[in-house]
Amino acid sequence: MQKNEQISALILAGGRGSRMGHVDKGLQPFRGMTMAGHVLERLKPQVGSVAINANQNLDAYRAFDVPVWPDETAGFAGPLAGLEAGLHHCATPYLVTAPCDSPFVPLDLAERLFAALSEQDADIALAVTQEGARKQPHPVFCLVKTSLLPVLSQYLADGGRKMDGWYADLKVAEVLFEDSDAFRNINTLDELHSYDASRPPRLKDVVSCLSAYDPDALPVRDAQQIIGQFVTPIAAIEKVALRSSLDRVLAQDLISPINVPAHDNSAMDGYALRGADLQADGPTILRVISTVFAGRPNDAVPAAGECVRIMTGAVMPPGCDSVIPQEHVAAITDEEITIDAGAIRTGDNRRFAGEDLKAGSPALQKGRIIRPADLGLLASLGFAEVPVQRRLRVAFFSTGDELRSIGEPLDTGCVYDSNRYTLYGMLTRLGCDIIDMGIVRDDPAALEAALRNACENADAIITSGGVSVGAADYTRDIMAKLGDVTFWKIGMRPGRPLAFGKIDSNGRSAFLFGLPGNPVAVMVSFYFFARNALLAMMGANAPLPLLKVRSKGAIRKKAGRTEYQRGILSVGEDGVQQVAITGAQGSGILRSMSEANCMVVLHDEQGNVAAGDLVDVILFDGLI
Ligand code: AMP
Ligand code: MG
Repeated sequence: MQKNEQISALILAGGRGSRMGHVDKGLQPFRGMTMAGHVLERLKPQVGSVAINANQNLDAYRAFDVPVWPDETAGFAGPLAGLEAGLHHCATPYLVTAPCDSPFVPLDLAERLFAALSEQDADIALAVTQEGARKQPHPVFCLVKTSLLPVLSQYLADGGRKMDGWYADLKVAEVLFEDSDAFRNINTLDELHSYDASRPPRLKDVVSCLSAYDPDALPVRDAQQIIGQFVTPIAAIEKVALRSSLDRVLAQDLISPINVPAHDNSAMDGYALRGADLQADGPTILRVISTVFAGRPNDAVPAAGECVRIMTGAVMPPGCDSVIPQEHVAAITDEEITIDAGAIRTGDNRRFAGEDLKAGSPALQKGRIIRPADLGLLASLGFAEVPVQRRLRVAFFSTGDELRSIGEPLDTGCVYDSNRYTLYGMLTRLGCDIIDMGIVRDDPAALEAALRNACENADAIITSGGVSVGAADYTRDIMAKLGDVTFWKIGMRPGRPLAFGKIDSNGRSAFLFGLPGNPVAVMVSFYFFARNALLAMMGANAPLPLLKVRSKGAIRKKAGRTEYQRGILSVGEDGVQQVAITGAQGSGILRSMSEANCMVVLHDEQGNVAAGDLVDVILFDGLI
């Protein structure tokens, strides 16, 4: 696909969405983004700039960071009014359009329409598809010369509204597109939901979103993007007791039923007073009329010149707006206190009702992984039960004739299976229910049986080994036979080969991650591909933070691939954090992983790192 700077693109989102029950079509969620978002992603690489024609929710459209142009003809005159506005604003000689509800718009739309327009010296080029014996034109997928604005405006001014009426006297080039699915627009909410739910995306669709796709040299971020768009969350919620919700994924937004704290209260042990009583230029003497304790009601109402002794957390007496801590009081007797001028200001040490959380405001959002602080927060709101996503079931096994399980003798040429143990650890920490299926021999029948069994019992399957092109590796063939699976060579080190997709067996399906066999590669591929995907399937939103840390030494790095080096983060002599990579970084050397406390992420475009340069680091362990 080629980018043509002479062409601007216009996404037509100006309709009223009547067939969708007056919702704004372009903003409907579809496969992880909005419908208009899909169209934008697919048009952007084709043209110099993209704009949106919309007549409602303009701010939401502007959030795409592109110009938004409303119709200039009143009364929702249809897509032609949008085209008119687009031509009016267009700064390039050509404008290509696509509707906001066509998330499969072809990636070569602009290029092919432009080629036909130029070749045939036409005024307008439009897409057609073959529907049986009939040719179906798609006038909303068209490329127009910007100079045609007056023709269109005249047509509209004369009351014309038909999408294919305005160019009756112009020279039209038709371009036949083979994939009629690409022009499918989604008109009703039911249709939208049925696409999202019962017709999960095919890898082919997802992959076609990428501007350049080469399975044999796939950048890490493209692989991550494809995986992210392909997996779908499980939709099963369970209610668990508050304590059991620790580390689980919150399945619904939780709204605070109460104000926390429920009343204005004191942040200190001291004296509650009326700020208006404080003298600016001399000592203030206040009469102490009562003492108020936390949790014990008290009906003292201080008048002017009076105060109340108060404990931390006790409800502020009516009329009082400030608390002076007892250690700041200049003199105290049983009856009165003396406060020096300027010792406090009005409003000091008073906590407001609802300052932690207001009744009706969101306390925690869906997708959050519940941490200790959240348990406390939920307890403070009185929640005894919490809606969480059901745990994700993940089956895993190792492949290879050379593998032995611990406890077995290690025959010549064999190695102990370590991948199942690192996978056990990583999956358990991620909060999955695991099904450890042991070692599967490099034997087609055994592999097929294991994959089918895993597929019928789990939401996701993780295998290790057998996805490169070794002679005894049947894994690839069997995986491909059972479903929609693709095999990549990823531009990364360690861990180049990766199989990904979805397989089916007896009416059940499961997402599949075929990780490489080398022990470090397994962990790295798990952390950087499977982890996020599994979290997405769990409905969780938990991206890993990348920290920037100074590299202690120089690191050799080839540009054009992502390298994950095992690192040790420590404090340098100057007290500043620094990271050094562990010794041997071979993909089979698990010790490098075990010694490390972090991973140094060297991105595609990065080359050699000099000592003292900042590098991105992901810590293995967090605070909790
Ligand atoms: P493969 O991808 O199957 O060709 O395996 C690549 C390398 O990783 C070989 O040296 C295997 O012996 C090794 N390997 C594969 N699976 C495991 C495992 N489960 N535990 C330890 N090493 C493994
Ligand atoms: Mg193998």
